[in-house]
Amino acid sequence: MKDLMDRMRAGGVHSLLAQFTDLNGVAKGKLVPLAHLDQLLTEGAGFAGPSIVGTGLPRTGPRSEYYARGNASTVVPLPWMPGVARVVCDGFVDAQPFEACPRQVLRRAIARLAQRGWHLRTGIEPEFFLLRRHAGGWVPADDADRLDKPSYDLKSLARQGSFLQALADALSRCGLDILQIDHEDAHGQYEINFGFDEALVSADHLMLFKLGAQALAEARGMVFSMMPKPFADQPGSGMHFHVSLWSDWNPKRPDNAHNVFVAHRADGSIDREHPLSMLGRHFVAGVLAHSAALTALAAPTVNSYRRLRVYRSRSGTSWAPVYMAQGPNNRTAALRTLHGRFEWRVPDSAANPYLATAALIAAGLDGIDRKLEPAAECTEDLFALSPAQVREKGIGLLPQSLGEALDALQADDVVRAALGETLTLEFLALKRAEIEAWRNHISDWELQRYAEAF
Ligand code: GLU
Ligand code: MG
Repeated sequence: MKDLMDRMRAGGVHSLLAQFTDLNGVAKGKLVPLAHLDQLLTEGAGFAGPSIVGTGLPRTGPRSEYYARGNASTVVPLPWMPGVARVVCDGFVDAQPFEACPRQVLRRAIARLAQRGWHLRTGIEPEFFLLRRHAGGWVPADDADRLDKPSYDLKSLARQGSFLQALADALSRCGLDILQIDHEDAHGQYEINFGFDEALVSADHLMLFKLGAQALAEARGMVFSMMPKPFADQPGSGMHFHVSLWSDWNPKRPDNAHNVFVAHRADGSIDREHPLSMLGRHFVAGVLAHSAALTALAAPTVNSYRRLRVYRSRSGTSWAPVYMAQGPNNRTAALRTLHGRFEWRVPDSAANPYLATAALIAAGLDGIDRKLEPAAECTEDLFALSPAQVREKGIGLLPQSLGEALDALQADDVVRAALGETLTLEFLALKRAEIEAWRNHISDWELQRYAEAF
């Protein structure tokens, strides 16, 4: 502790940003002077529990206080907030891990894997928009970003180069391994990729990315947006998860974790013809079996379901999944399998990374426990088929609205158990209220279409 404090002081840090993540996947917290590092890491910083969305905590009594307790391994100075170091915190109530803290939910799921000697690694790929307000609406921050097919556009990438480079530099200084930055397939849309890591660390990294991007965009007069689908005629923002499962114990190389999703032949050599081992196939089958409920966590807003549809975007296709299928390198399926891992393409940019990962683990473990076998590998371009053709193949449709996804979550005991009853009920209530608010709104489209029509 003293070492850490000395190092921070020597680096010019005077305050700690005690940060946790709420039910909505939004970073919350408070500033704590560095002198109180000890208290932050042992007891935690106190918050009014009911003021945090989704806790369901009472207004009075010992359970009204939410303690955000810091993890020493996460302390890192924030380049965009000189003098401040971020500390990732877990929720505690009444001196116990708080069951409805999203990070605690993920910790519980990870502990279930650990009992079997496994740990999950994820690579989370955020897509996002850089926007500005204009005449009561929203437009891409870059006026000149207008190509019909903006994927990988280097001219637009260069125009946001100062922001993107500043973000990449800042995240690198925080220890993230930046892999790629590109212009995505919508105007004002970008993606930044960083190295995969342990599931908990990846979720922490994602939150750090959001904090940094928000601060650096705002400093440049732009709005950093993780809204899943801001523009009707253009693709939305996915947040794909690359997923692999590892075992610490490898009889041949005891010093090294090994990926138990990699398929092996009978002679022990690596089988490159099959993307996944038997265990990997069971995991994938579990994820597909619980897809409808998982969608509530992966696509948690009413706006998310503007993205999860087959439609022709201005650029051609949306690349967003619609069907509960899996196939080798198939980007038109919910799960794209690769050698020793799969890409879960359902999550969008609004997903809470802790809850989405925890739910995914529960679904995958259920697939393993029940030895589920996934439906045949799908190699077809599902976007080219009609809904009837897809149905004929026995492939299910992902929920097409938030309401449908919530109903599926409500009915899914495996995913509910992983989230815990408090969080499940809070989530369902919050999200049903969101649907109600949306229903009570009359959109411009409706007025344009009907006001003078009849
Ligand atoms: N933007 C697409 C989505 O909503 C994904 C594009 C890609 O594959 O990178 O999922
Ligand atoms: Mg992308």
